[in-house]
Amino acid sequence: MNSNCSSERIVFSVVVPMYNEVENIDQFYTRIIKVLEGLGKTFEIICVNDGSKDDTLFRLLALHEKDTRVKVIDLSRNFGKEIAMSAGIDFASGEAVIPIDADLQDPPEFIPKLVAKWQEGYDVVYATRTEREGESRLKKWTAHTFYRIIGRLTRFDIPKDTGDFRLMDRKVVDALCQLREHHRFMKGLFSWVGFRQASLPYRREPRFAGKTKWNYWKLWNFALEGITSFSYTPLQLATYFGLLVSVFAFIFGLFMLFRTLLYGNPVPGYPSLMVVILFLGGIQLLTIGIIGEYIGRIYNESKRRPLYFVQEAIGFASNHKYPKENPGGGFSFHEEKIFKN
Ligand code: UDP
Ligand code: MG
Repeated sequence: MNSNCSSERIVFSVVVPMYNEVENIDQFYTRIIKVLEGLGKTFEIICVNDGSKDDTLFRLLALHEKDTRVKVIDLSRNFGKEIAMSAGIDFASGEAVIPIDADLQDPPEFIPKLVAKWQEGYDVVYATRTEREGESRLKKWTAHTFYRIIGRLTRFDIPKDTGDFRLMDRKVVDALCQLREHHRFMKGLFSWVGFRQASLPYRREPRFAGKTKWNYWKLWNFALEGITSFSYTPLQLATYFGLLVSVFAFIFGLFMLFRTLLYGNPVPGYPSLMVVILFLGGIQLLTIGIIGEYIGRIYNESKRRPLYFVQEAIGFASNHKYPKENPGGGFSFHEEKIFKN
């Protein structure tokens, strides 16, 4: 029998955000199902369709008809990976939740190792990449630098070279579900909640099919998100720049005073004036920009909008504990509605 008995407690919830992944679904399903069945426990695979423009949704619905352990959450539009993943985690009812990418970059065959570590008593077992195949040097270098900077700026450890691929115990998931901020830097949130964490090294594989949705502009914004979500050090930069410039200006002022007293004032100094004005102007704009980054986020958070909307939630039992119990996490859903086109 394929279906999980509704009264039976689900042990593993696999959460898969999907945006235009139609070419990967079948292969992903074949590989993950083998692994999960091998574990010999009840499980569910929650696929979150993040507003895909291709046939991802229909392929998922077809899968659900074949195997009801595949559950589908269809979001009302594209919300981005972090929110799609959060939606899946909200709906997950397993004792352990495993977010994984649909493109097979995170090998499903690695899951039993995560599970073994979880059974040793760890609450979060994350997979750390030892190699990143199929990625350019520049991407590896920028990723490395980013982890170093954020490591310096935050007070808790955000593990290096770790993606979202991990296993989390129910108590970690319950903690995570209470964090409803819009600017969701998941790697940071995962670490911020704490609990007993362990890491296991794995080889990140190249994408099976399709293209990555990331480009450098998106990565830059992702990095900004990470830094501004977990540190206000950049806001303090203005203070230190200001302090530095003031001290310098004071010394320079004294120097000018004595020089004028001793040698008079022949009124040169246009170039130095320009340099000072431009320098200060630059610093002021830069720091205003930094303040802007934070104000923009305060503005967004203050609207308190729900994180996402669900067009349709398919395959969940009618007694399922829906995430409406999370304050601030709004959604709409239809119970067990099989979707046919
Ligand atoms: N993804 C998503 N919504 C988006 C972008 C990506 O749900 O707006 C999913 C995507 O389908 C995949 C995972 O997030 O399962 C990772 O995306 P991708 O492979 O593009 O990122 P990368 O592996 O390059 O970091
Ligand atoms: Mg990928």
